[in-house]
Amino acid sequence: MSKLRKLRLNLTIVNTAVLIGLLIFCTVFIYLSLNMSSDSDIANSLEIYCAQLAGNLDYLEATDKNASQWDETRTSFQVFNDGLAKNNTSYVVWNEKMEVVDSSKQSIIEDAQLLNLIKRYASEHHDDYWVVNYQKEDQKAKICTYPVLTKNGELKTIQVIKNMNGEISSMNNTLNMLILMVIIGGVISVVCGYLLSGHSLMPVEESMDRQQEFLANASHELRTPIAVIRTNLEVVQGDPEGTVKSQEEWLRNAYEETRRMQQIVEDLMFLARADAGEVHGMPEPVDMVFLSQEVIERMLPVAAQKQIMLDWDMPDHPLVIMGDESQLTQLLIIFIDNAIKYSNSGTEIRIIGELVGRQVNLRIKDQGIGIAPQDQDKIFNRFYRVDKARSRAEGGTGLGLSIAQWIVQKHKGVLSVESEEGNGTTMTVTFPLAEQTNGDDEHEGNAI
Ligand code: ADP
Repeated sequence: MSKLRKLRLNLTIVNTAVLIGLLIFCTVFIYLSLNMSSDSDIANSLEIYCAQLAGNLDYLEATDKNASQWDETRTSFQVFNDGLAKNNTSYVVWNEKMEVVDSSKQSIIEDAQLLNLIKRYASEHHDDYWVVNYQKEDQKAKICTYPVLTKNGELKTIQVIKNMNGEISSMNNTLNMLILMVIIGGVISVVCGYLLSGHSLMPVEESMDRQQEFLANASHELRTPIAVIRTNLEVVQGDPEGTVKSQEEWLRNAYEETRRMQQIVEDLMFLARADAGEVHGMPEPVDMVFLSQEVIERMLPVAAQKQIMLDWDMPDHPLVIMGDESQLTQLLIIFIDNAIKYSNSGTEIRIIGELVGRQVNLRIKDQGIGIAPQDQDKIFNRFYRVDKARSRAEGGTGLGLSIAQWIVQKHKGVLSVESEEGNGTTMTVTFPLAEQTNGDDEHEGNAI
């Protein structure tokens, strides 16, 4: 299994474990809170029922409940009683001799059990309302016991009994729903976690692929000069009597290849350090007019060797940008060097600088071999060369434009190419003009 696939599985497992843990925590929390709040709600309503029954004791004890004096009480008690029935609640009222004074019909607890509770109430010194849970086999109930001293000094005990089976089954349904949610959440988390981790690992995968390709290309690029050096030195070795003069051609070939290798290694090192974020430039105001003229002067002999005219077209005022001077010099060298490499003798290269709004625009325009439209996007890829043989013959490494692109991006610039096969290429680079500040520049000192 590849490392990335293992990482993807691990991420999925960790995601799922965290999500399931959270869901279980929420489920337990919701279940316990619901349970507790419904428990205390029921206890409260049982106490209220007891109080209402206590207020109706005269009526409950009356021998003739149909007498006209009870008309009003009878009606309201009937409503109260219906409410109790709807709520699966019943009541029993006891006198001092532990005889039932009145009770609703559907009490689910035997009288003996209720009397036991009254005894416990007396022996355990409870005050006021006493609510207990009662369970026998499948039967679950909540019972509130409440003793009342009537006006004529008699002790009556009221018990209100709530059948809890309905509530318990609805709590169980809620619990089942929550468990189902945890299971569904877990499944969704596994699927989404796997898909999302795959998606978020895509850039890592791409970068690993690019790195592998880069490594393969780099080793291939280095193998070629090594093979050339070896072959040339083998020829020299095969003629032990030969002098340096007579072996000059082979030795020069080997020497040229070492210079090529050195260039490749230097470019590779630069890109590796750039990728690792280790190339830091110190920004300072750089006049691109002055810098371009300096670089052009340095490149004049190279152009002259190929009978190429190198000319510039610059404004008579400075074009100042914030940047690292040595990186900007390297950038101009890459463009001018490429223009020379891919132009034939008798042509001209112009470096044009101008201010466009708040942007400094630099164009390196040659009349060289040009770049086919399908290659124009690819030339910034590492080791991409339109014509490998020509690039090699001209001492190219295939890394110049990758380095150029990195430098332009670091300077918040934009790089574009315009080219026509056989008619030449224009490389355009645009940088933001440096802000005019009095004294210290605010960017100064921040590494690029
Ligand atoms: P190289 O070292 O091969 O020049 P670069 O990264 O600098 O590598 O350029 C990549 C490729 O882009 C070159 O090999 C060449 O094919 C093409 N190229 C770059 N600049 C020019 C240009 N001014 N004219 C024509 N082709 C160019």
